[in-house]
Amino acid sequence: MAIIDLHTHSSASDGELSPRELVAKADAMGLQTLALTDHDSVAGLAEASQAAQDCGIEFIPGIEIEIEFNPGECHLLGYGIDHESEPLQEALSMLAQARHERNRAMLEKLREEGFRLDYESILATSSFAYIGRPHLADLLVRAGHARTRQDAFDRYLGKGRPFYLKKACLELDDAIARIEAAGGIAVLAHPYSLFVSKSMLAAIFDAWKEKGIRGIEAYHPTAKYGQCVILERMARERGLFVTAGSDFHGARRPECGLGKTAGGMPISHRFRDELVHALESFRRG
Ligand code: AMP
Ligand code: ZN
Ligand code: FE
Ligand code: FE
Repeated sequence: MAIIDLHTHSSASDGELSPRELVAKADAMGLQTLALTDHDSVAGLAEASQAAQDCGIEFIPGIEIEIEFNPGECHLLGYGIDHESEPLQEALSMLAQARHERNRAMLEKLREEGFRLDYESILATSSFAYIGRPHLADLLVRAGHARTRQDAFDRYLGKGRPFYLKKACLELDDAIARIEAAGGIAVLAHPYSLFVSKSMLAAIFDAWKEKGIRGIEAYHPTAKYGQCVILERMARERGLFVTAGSDFHGARRPECGLGKTAGGMPISHRFRDELVHALESFRRG
């Protein structure tokens, strides 16, 4: 069976591999199709696309955008985007600037409480363009204020903890509009992270389909396989197409292995076919 992956991260956000290394890994594993979906960034797409062309893998340019939502987290995948699209780039620069200012503000709050952390050292040594709380957590560990990254989140940086600050996010309608203006289509990532009941989830699928979401990422390694089957059914009942992804970030997250999704299932190329058909019908208008 041909294997693919529709949800991956590179060092253009918080993945460990460069876009070219990611494509090389996909090639070595025999993947037929790869989508790169970095958080709030299109910076890796040109390199990945070229690398994929060089080794003959089908490449789908993507992005994963964080959307304003409570109680859980809402991530929106955009597929088939032109990374040079101005409305998209404009929103992404705004988010990058807001992220930078938030890091400074969290750091300032930490300084006021006597924590001495060296933000410049992350800027200097991090290969990640996507700096955020995980990096601050590492600084807290390095300075001896926390035992582990998780400990730093639990005590200081997690939602509701003393140094947490809200991050600027796009609104759903705005993000969908910018993805579509860039020639792409919007898919709701890992719906269980919204942290709502099944009946609420059904209502959300209905309402967000009206807003322009076309597909649901039903299969994601953070959910149990049976729960993903339920999501697939909920999506199909509403005429939403279904995708599957690994959310590969590198070796540090072994549960998200490239080309595999919920329950360790290899990702079938039928999900690629659904996505490509949805893109084609969007472009036909
Ligand atoms: P940021 O975008 O700067 O708010 O950081 C978000 C990232 O922090 C997420 O992708 C997770 O990797 C990590 N994270 C968020 N909340 C927690 C938590 N409670 N415990 C551990 N890691 C977390
Ligand atoms: Zn990530
Ligand atoms: Fe996500
Ligand atoms: Fe992701």
